[in-house]
Amino acid sequence: MAEKGSLAGFRETLHATLRACKVWHRYLPRMLPSLAAYCAVSGAAPYVTIYCSAQILNELAGGRDPQRLAVWAAVTVLLTAGLGALAALLNRWRQVYRRAVYYTLQKVEADKLLSMDFEGADDPRTHELLARMFELYNWGGYGLFSIVYYAEDLLKPLFGAASAIALTVTLFTRQVPQSAGAWAVLNHPLALLLALAVLLGVAFLSPLCRNRCEQYYVRASKSGTDANRLFAFCLGEIALPGRSADVRLYCQDRLVEHYGRDGTFLPGGPISRLAKGPIGLWAGAGAAVSGMFTGLAYAFVCLKAWAGAFPVGSVAQYVAAVTALSENINGLVSTWGTYRANAVFLRETFAFLDLPNRMYQGSLTTEKRADRQYDIELRDVSFRYPGAGDWALRHVNLKFRVGSRLAVVGENGSGKTTLIKLLCRLYDPTEGEILLNGIDIRKYAYKDYLALFSVVFQDFQLLAFPLGQNIAAAVRYDSARADACLRLAGFGPRLDAMPQGLETPLYKEFDEAGVQVSGGEAQKIALARALYKDAPFVILDEPTAALDPVAEMEVYRNFDKIVGDKTAVYISHRLSSCKFCDEIAVFDHGAIVQRGSHDALVADTAGLYHKLWHAQAQYYTPQPETAPS
Ligand code: ADP
Repeated sequence: MAEKGSLAGFRETLHATLRACKVWHRYLPRMLPSLAAYCAVSGAAPYVTIYCSAQILNELAGGRDPQRLAVWAAVTVLLTAGLGALAALLNRWRQVYRRAVYYTLQKVEADKLLSMDFEGADDPRTHELLARMFELYNWGGYGLFSIVYYAEDLLKPLFGAASAIALTVTLFTRQVPQSAGAWAVLNHPLALLLALAVLLGVAFLSPLCRNRCEQYYVRASKSGTDANRLFAFCLGEIALPGRSADVRLYCQDRLVEHYGRDGTFLPGGPISRLAKGPIGLWAGAGAAVSGMFTGLAYAFVCLKAWAGAFPVGSVAQYVAAVTALSENINGLVSTWGTYRANAVFLRETFAFLDLPNRMYQGSLTTEKRADRQYDIELRDVSFRYPGAGDWALRHVNLKFRVGSRLAVVGENGSGKTTLIKLLCRLYDPTEGEILLNGIDIRKYAYKDYLALFSVVFQDFQLLAFPLGQNIAAAVRYDSARADACLRLAGFGPRLDAMPQGLETPLYKEFDEAGVQVSGGEAQKIALARALYKDAPFVILDEPTAALDPVAEMEVYRNFDKIVGDKTAVYISHRLSSCKFCDEIAVFDHGAIVQRGSHDALVADTAGLYHKLWHAQAQYYTPQPETAPS
């Protein structure tokens, strides 16, 4: 591993680059071959022309045989035209895949997120990694994207350098005739080695200077990406529709103005200081060294030609080939430098892709039971969120009686939603165990177990697809069933007013004809979705929070019809809405402090339920002592 701020070493760069290539290959198997084929042909093509032209020049300056000239001219034209056409064709092929790169990049990330267990996907550290990956992409296209973006800059010089070397070999092997006197020293192996060493040395020196520039980019990446994140928020996210009202009412633009004045990228800021300072100096040095190389190469070729080692046509060939060799080496080393910088940034990408799924996945199947006899029991369950110090649940013992209605009540933060997350196995208990029909739920196949629950979370999410598809979470759905569930959830009148019925798209992201549903309407749709799933457990987390009082009454009245023979868990901090449940569990600071029927609990004057009931009652009745009916 390279130190923070420096480029990655050779092994790490190679390893990271190959691994990134494998990722691309898995998603777009033909992209890298198409790129390589295009680079091979377009990289080598100019040298074929250079070689043929040199033969023509030599013939013109030497034998001037019309037949040989005609053959070389024909070969030159045919090869140049043929390779040009092939390169153009391959270019089209390559373009098709290049266009898919950005989409694929997002697909790689989405696939990983969707394959993660809830704990990982919900972990802020996962999202921090993801945000950082996108910031690096915005900062310089770094990460998986660079592998494709710069592949051409690596492959083309590679094929170009190989071709240039093929054309340059004879520059060193062709002998100066002995008649050239002192110039014959150019035939001496040491002279050749010296020339080669100087040329290669200078050829590598220039890109090394440029790599120093890359190093400064790596060092500046933290402040650069932080500034990008700030800009993205201040210039983009702050203007998103959900924020418009708050921004205007609280004049939040003043805060945006203040924080958006970050000068990281402005003239005089750290990035511009780097550009004017070391980055500029190293880039200038690289260009100067490159010019020096060309001069030296010209001098060596001309000296050998002057001494009579080869004719004038070959001078053109060698000058072109040696200059091209230098450019290609330059390109290779520079791009390798970019890959070394990129390997540092790929660490974030791989850290994200390597995030483990910690949740144990059992293999037992939950048999489909028509009698819905699924007994769930929490046995001394305690839970702490990953990274949190406090217990969210402590020593919870709870048994769900099949077909019963359990209300879970308690103040905000008392652990009600956490209980549901554990019950649905979005998290595993830190201590204790949850049993389904006497067996630890970890031993069941995860998907099978999840299929037992229909949950309406407080922060449920609908998708901008047709209503019916939202209800069924599937493209094809049973219209009659979806219709019935929507009506049961109280959405009937609204559905009747929709000209496209179940096919009506929700929201307008993908369709102008989409409908904007209110919070209450969305909650009814979420309830209908839970009913459509028809799972043996129905869990409703504050299911009437966004409903008006009439719709709320409707849900209570229909509750038995809605829930049917399923086991229901009803969470609310509005106690009056829990009266119809068979049993109420009162949560306080993550523990169950009371259990019983409404009447029994309200009669216990020392209990929390009594206190909460009377605290709420004062909002419903003129006499604080009287509970709402
Ligand atoms: P309730 O649903 O009763 O309002 P929750 O179950 O949401 O309460 O929260 C119980 C406790 O767990 C609270 O102290 C809350 O701050 C904490 N908590 C909830 N979600 C997380 C989370 N993702 N990470 C860390 N702590 C959390």
